Amino acid sequence: MSSSGRASELDRAGDASSPGGSLPLEVRGLVKRYDGVAAVDGVDLEVRAGDIYGFLGPNGAGKTTTMRMLLGLVRPDSGSIRVFGRDPTEEPLGALEGVAGIIEEPRQYLFMSGRRNLELLAAFDRQAAGRKEIDEVLDLVELRDRADDVVSKYSQGMRQRLGIASCLLRRPRLLMLDEPANGVDPAGLRFLRDLLRQLAERGVTIFLSSHLLAEVQEVCSRVAVISAGRIVYEGSLAQLRASAGPMYRLRTTDLRRARDVCDQLDGINRLTVEHDELVFSLATEDGTVALTQALADANLGITSLAHEQATLEGLFFSLTEQTPDHSPVIPAR
Ligand code: ATP
Repeated sequence: MSSSGRASELDRAGDASSPGGSLPLEVRGLVKRYDGVAAVDGVDLEVRAGDIYGFLGPNGAGKTTTMRMLLGLVRPDSGSIRVFGRDPTEEPLGALEGVAGIIEEPRQYLFMSGRRNLELLAAFDRQAAGRKEIDEVLDLVELRDRADDVVSKYSQGMRQRLGIASCLLRRPRLLMLDEPANGVDPAGLRFLRDLLRQLAERGVTIFLSSHLLAEVQEVCSRVAVISAGRIVYEGSLAQLRASAGPMYRLRTTDLRRARDVCDQLDGINRLTVEHDELVFSLATEDGTVALTQALADANLGITSLAHEQATLEGLFFSLTEQTPDHSPVIPAR
């Protein structure tokens, strides 16, 4: 890679804060319904200048629909969106100045070269991008050597990188990427993380969605976790881990009835079922006294009760393994 090429292009990327000090992205009460069912159900988001912000949730949680609304591609049923203080639903072109993004997967002409694709995009976008600018973004994504090959010969990871290069031609202050790690191999993931960090260091705010915690936890400063259209956590991953405390694993003589007992008990949080165990956190350690008492009152025997430190992965699952009415999932017996 030409590091000078990278620095030079990044230096031209704008400062992520707006002159009026508005946040790159501020979303309140965003709702989108399809056939009466809320795909996005009251989403609030606050992305600050310089964030690499992870938008995390399982398949079908509402990430893409939210991102479509943020980019003015789908009209919300209600709620407000401000991109650097401006509303993309009211002024799609003006509000999205300095914003670039890829929703789902990048669209490219497969029979044209990577370079030709970038030239065409720049022309559509009325960007004055000459060979030098295009070479710079190709260097950034390490595609210069393959720039003259047709895109049909590219791997999926290379197509992602070409997509990011086309975004960078816009010199974005805010870059929005929907599942950028899809189909990318481990080396490609490492490259992507490095690139995102470099962009952030140079003042580009990044908003990226993923359904995999592992993909965001190394690179994101803050996250929002979405489940069934609702935000179930927003903040840093460190805060999330700290808020969890120890997790307990309980086996009893009757899983379903024990789940009902735990559901009724104050101080039991993040209750989920893993195989034949109930997994939960307790507000206080002496919560085990109330728990064992309640189980005994229900004539339920404890087969085992163990505690362990919560993993981020466990927390993510407990936040997102929810049915649409937001009660924890329990397998039918
Ligand atoms: P994935 O990771 O699988 O892409 P996602 O979190 O991006 O999932 P969305 O694509 O936003 O989720 O979908 C959220 C819900 O909205 C899903 O139930 C989906 O079926 C529904 N949905 C999305 N777009 C439409 C549409 N155009 N018409 C009807 N339903 C839709």
